[in-house]
Amino acid sequence: MKRKNEPSFRESVDMMFNRAVALMDLPPGLEEKIRVCNATYTVRFGVRLRGQIQTFTGYRSVHSEHMEPVKGGIRYAPSVNQDEVEALAALMTYKCALVEAPFGGSKGGLCIDPRQYDEHELEQITRRFAYELAKRDLIHPSQNVPAPDMGTGEREMAWIADQYARMNTTDINARACVTGKPLNAGGISGRVEATGRGVQYALREFFRDPRDVEKSGLSGKLDGKRVIVQGLGNVGFHAAKFLSEEDGAIVTGVIERDGAVFNPAGLDVEAVHHWIAGHGGVSGFPDATFVPEGASLLEEDCDILIPAALEGVINMSNAARVKAPLIIEAANGPITAGADDVLRQKGTVIIPDMYANAGGVTVSYFEWVKNLSHIRFGRMQRRQEEARHQLVIDELQRLDDYLGDAWSMSPDFKDKYLRGAGELELVRSGLDDTMRIAYQSMREVWHDRADVQDLRTAAYLVSINKVAASYRAKGL
Ligand code: GLU
Repeated sequence: MKRKNEPSFRESVDMMFNRAVALMDLPPGLEEKIRVCNATYTVRFGVRLRGQIQTFTGYRSVHSEHMEPVKGGIRYAPSVNQDEVEALAALMTYKCALVEAPFGGSKGGLCIDPRQYDEHELEQITRRFAYELAKRDLIHPSQNVPAPDMGTGEREMAWIADQYARMNTTDINARACVTGKPLNAGGISGRVEATGRGVQYALREFFRDPRDVEKSGLSGKLDGKRVIVQGLGNVGFHAAKFLSEEDGAIVTGVIERDGAVFNPAGLDVEAVHHWIAGHGGVSGFPDATFVPEGASLLEEDCDILIPAALEGVINMSNAARVKAPLIIEAANGPITAGADDVLRQKGTVIIPDMYANAGGVTVSYFEWVKNLSHIRFGRMQRRQEEARHQLVIDELQRLDDYLGDAWSMSPDFKDKYLRGAGELELVRSGLDDTMRIAYQSMREVWHDRADVQDLRTAAYLVSINKVAASYRAKGL
């Protein structure tokens, strides 16, 4: 949505892109070719609901086909519009390039408030939308592979997969037409929490380099850092949960639709999540101060701010008052181009969306590969790996027996070492590796180039270079 004195989301993404390409030496014309959205398909379809035909408007935008299939989620929200879908599709191109997921960028959306419909109605609407897209190869295992986004999840992906399979009865790879499916419909372990996990891995990598931490004005490790998260949906919830349960971060504030809750001693993220599910919002949550004007908490003192909801929440109207020295964009486009300027001038370090929330598409990539290979990760090697580990354990056991009281294996070493990696462990390992390597590629540019002041520009430079290399290889 366009705010006063503020560029639209699409314009914001273009402005950030332009800032980066100004520092590059791309052949004339290529810059424009990469920036523009290749095509946006708009569909209006009717579904008979509650005795009358209701018309819905949906979009699927393809930003760049330098690699195929193109990839990106489908969003259900009343605010969905062409500008937004195109901005999100562009971000998908850059995101996939940055984390080396071999896809072009795409995004879809349906103008709908899913809370106004029951499950059966949503299924009818989703199947019809999927039919319209699949008919035009805008859902297709080798052309265009959607995934969940705001307002959609495993359930919708299962309907889409089934709809595609009904329309393509002999396609052996039908399941690879969409990712984010439930496990029993061809999904992969760890996809639901993947974006939140990715945010956690991103922060861990940030805190591994004291130079980066210093640039933000923070010090030390993640342990004890005060975190405020906006949006306790799938991404915000998992990020906040993992950071507080596994890294010692203290989640002091949660901003939701109906207001915010704040407790400097830390909130129990699971409990807040549970409360929202039961009460429809955070209001009334015990052991915390309720702040009716939720957005004001974006300006509260904290170490790490995690906007994990809508785009444009940090804009020209509040950017100057945002105190967090470190912001990680778990949502797509939460900071407008104008706010980005203000924050950069203040020295705020921003871990940009195209990297920070790339965990989702990374695990989508693993799911797509799993679907195409028709085998669960780890199925062939797990027991063999365990058998080899058993050999080591047996030798250590001999030593243990021989040395008596002088030495013994640590209590849970045997169990931990013996267990061969199953699908979930492999997915986590692949995601961790991806997040580290992608961060390191941005870090290198950020530290080495005097003309690059921020991680977002570094991220754009890395990803645009990769997209440009693909086009060059194609002879374009
Ligand atoms: N909707 C997610 C995103 O914006 C996931 C996309 C995908 O898995 O293809 O990155």
